[in-house]
Amino acid sequence: MEPENLRPTCLMCGQNTPLWTEGIFIKGKFICARCEQMILAVHVDDIWYPFIKDQLKHIWFNRTEGPYFS
Ligand SMILES: [Zn+2]
Repeated sequence: MEPENLRPTCLMCGQNTPLWTEGIFIKGKFICARCEQMILAVHVDDIWYPFIKDQLKHIWFNRTEGPYFS
């Protein structure tokens, strides 16, 4: 039984996942298992690539904490 606020919000899709064990934390940012698979599978010529690259930039370079999406 976990408090609501311990549920991480996925950085990629903005979804609150009830199963936070099904995903990865990178530098304190959460990516759900579904998006993790998408990242691993993406190609540079994929239409999702620029979006994914942009989101990942927030992980590497944004040190501020807070809501990932508002
Ligand atoms: Zn996600």
